[in-house]
Amino acid sequence: MEKSDWMLIGYVGTALGILFIVGALFCYSYFEIRSFIITVMIYPYREYTGPLLISGMVLLVIGLGCLWRAKEAAPLGPPAGKITKVCTSCGRVVAPDVKFCPYCGKVLPE
Ligand SMILES: [Zn+2]
Repeated sequence: MEKSDWMLIGYVGTALGILFIVGALFCYSYFEIRSFIITVMIYPYREYTGPLLISGMVLLVIGLGCLWRAKEAAPLGPPAGKITKVCTSCGRVVAPDVKFCPYCGKVLPE
């Protein structure tokens, strides 16, 4: 996979993971917050806390793993093994498709 793919999955996974965990905490504490207004509801979403927390943590781990993977992947910039040609006469780097060296005029091999 490309570095950008890892980055995308990493960011989406991390964001979703944090969202799920925050949602899980909200579900867990929903009753306490609402209890000052409505006292008849008993943890209406608390059953979602566990699955949300687990999936949130899994997503977070996957997301951070992908971000780490993207960081470990080849760094941005000129790719290694860039196609250039060096003049055999004067040693300067010239365009890969030139027939003659623009600096010293020597005929360059293909
Ligand atoms: Zn040259």
